[in-house]
Amino acid sequence: MNSNIVIAIDGYSSCGKSTLAKALAKKLHFVYVDSGAMYRAVTLYFIRNQVDIQNPEEVKKALAQIHLNFHSRDYQTHITLNDEEVSDEIREMKVSEQVSAVSALKVVREEMVKQQQRMGSSKNIVMDGRDIGTTVFPDATLKFFMTADPKVRAERRYKEMIANAAKITLEEVFENLAHRDYSDTTRKESPLTRAEDAIVLDNTELTPEEQLQFALDKVKPFLSN
Ligand code: C5P
Repeated sequence: MNSNIVIAIDGYSSCGKSTLAKALAKKLHFVYVDSGAMYRAVTLYFIRNQVDIQNPEEVKKALAQIHLNFHSRDYQTHITLNDEEVSDEIREMKVSEQVSAVSALKVVREEMVKQQQRMGSSKNIVMDGRDIGTTVFPDATLKFFMTADPKVRAERRYKEMIANAAKITLEEVFENLAHRDYSDTTRKESPLTRAEDAIVLDNTELTPEEQLQFALDKVKPFLSN
């Protein structure tokens, strides 16, 4: 039995998982892992190299060429794809549009889950994603399942993207979120679903500070002072 603490945060697209996960990790001095960034980086590689995702052999070969690495600077996700920093590019719409199809592939999930489990095998971590509490760490110390009104989520994401100078409309963001939610919850391989023992956190009307306090109160019993 490992004695490290693993906090799993799952939930729908753009409902503030990474904001909460980062804040928790910072407060507790835990490692933060954004599992979605890994699926996004794989997707970027597939787009750049025109990998045919219908062709399992091609996908397998491509996966073997991919080396991902996280660098945490001030709890922001910095991810490298074969030593190239791709942290900004993986957030672009071209990646968001393809990522759910790529992440539905069994071989892709198997490889990512293996890497994620390795990251959480000995350190205290907070990991956010879609299947962290159900598949990656079914025995996590603590699990949260986040949700929020879809319109509120789209507005939040839209503001974020506009602030980063993206050329996009609110409708496009809403459609993308709806599409990803549908694909993530209905796929065959570890679909997004609430683990039975996950604590539900609906943050439609909560500030980031309130969410952090809520989560900290739940974590407290597991901390040795
Ligand atoms: O978290 P983020 O929205 O960046 O994730 C992008 C996509 O990666 C999700 O829509 C989902 O398709 C996929 N994903 C996943 N499993 C995870 C994390 C992300 O399938 N653990």
